[in-house]
Amino acid sequence: MRYYIWTVGCQMNKADSEKLAAGFQRLGLRPADRMERADIVVLNTCSVRQHAEDRAYSKLGRVRLLKRQRPDLKVAVMGCMVGLKTDDLRRRFPFVDVFARPQQFEPIIELVQGPAEDLGGEFWPTTFAIPEGPTAYVPVIHGCNKFCTYCIVPYRRGRERSRPIADVVREVEFLASHGVREVTLLGQTVEAYGHDLPDQPDLGDLMRAVSEVEGIARIRFLTSYPKDMTRRILEAVAELPKVMECFSLPVQSGSDRILESMRRGYTRAEYLAKIRELRELMPEAGITTDVIVGYPGETEEDFQQTLELLEEVRFDKVHVAAYSPRPGTIAWRKLPDDVPADVKAERLHRVEELEARISLELNERYVGTVQEILVEGVRGGQPFGRTRTGKLVHLDAPARVGDLVDVRIEHAGPFALRGVPVDALALV
Ligand code: SF4
Repeated sequence: MRYYIWTVGCQMNKADSEKLAAGFQRLGLRPADRMERADIVVLNTCSVRQHAEDRAYSKLGRVRLLKRQRPDLKVAVMGCMVGLKTDDLRRRFPFVDVFARPQQFEPIIELVQGPAEDLGGEFWPTTFAIPEGPTAYVPVIHGCNKFCTYCIVPYRRGRERSRPIADVVREVEFLASHGVREVTLLGQTVEAYGHDLPDQPDLGDLMRAVSEVEGIARIRFLTSYPKDMTRRILEAVAELPKVMECFSLPVQSGSDRILESMRRGYTRAEYLAKIRELRELMPEAGITTDVIVGYPGETEEDFQQTLELLEEVRFDKVHVAAYSPRPGTIAWRKLPDDVPADVKAERLHRVEELEARISLELNERYVGTVQEILVEGVRGGQPFGRTRTGKLVHLDAPARVGDLVDVRIEHAGPFALRGVPVDALALV
């Protein structure tokens, strides 16, 4: 029997799909390279943006045709589109056998092998995806308690639930034994890690435990939430040599009025104070952020404050999105989507322009320096990897995937750097 899993959305979704695939394989199923060859098709969906939902609808259209030709094909839809929209989905796509929320693997497994009580207990905690390269994502906390007004995550992924340190370490040991050198500890708000566990360890404690795993050379973590990022966690990042000085710290807006409306839980001044604290401890840290433009009620003045904040902090990368109301959220219920589409598009463009200029300036500072790179893969014959601070580097000489190499940076663009391993330079 063969399975095919299609995935869209965040790293958490990708991690869920890998876990489900590992479960299928443990039960003897094999992967199919395309859905036409599969006996069970799983669509792992995302509803954070309309575009992601549209892609799932289009995929479901293809699955409908397939199911007409092969009525015995089993179809499951999982992920963030399931929940609020299940009734609507059931009506529109009656051929789907199972709808499952994020991480709700059991009904999907039952579809292929019937009710299986022995899948309780240790089955899922000891089912790990075989990694495909030297880097891997490890979810450490699921869900979110924050309820930002525009976000669907807390409704779909539920409240924050941390995995015990021992569980995480067991998975990291498994990954290391399969050649992984770098793990990224994942959570919607990763610094919230541990508050729901018996001894209330924090992310710093988890990082210390993961640092002990032999074979692991690098630890990253995603995504940060300013209010949860304590001094203690920052000090752990600064102290632990295996933990990368690389932060993904969404700000979303530079206007206090908009931050309050979003219920982000911090002011502009508090966010900037957090950045200062971080840079005092780690002056060279890489910092990326997320910004939403065109949030309900955002005036040109609010937007200007966002641009000013971006100029002031000078992020390494800004992920910018135009606001679109997500059904079921507080903003969707209470706030009119009143910024015209052309204004949103124009603001998006202005952030992108600013971001490209600042990224290039920051990247140019790397030229002439030597950076430690973990070689993550080879694309178009060229090895690539990342600096400790998260910069993508393409190498102009052969290098072995999985090795840590010192690279002299010779060229910088807005999105990536290029360099030559110091060892290769010595041979010239
Ligand atoms: S912190 Fe806010 S934006 Fe992030 S996942 Fe939680 S609710 Fe969504």
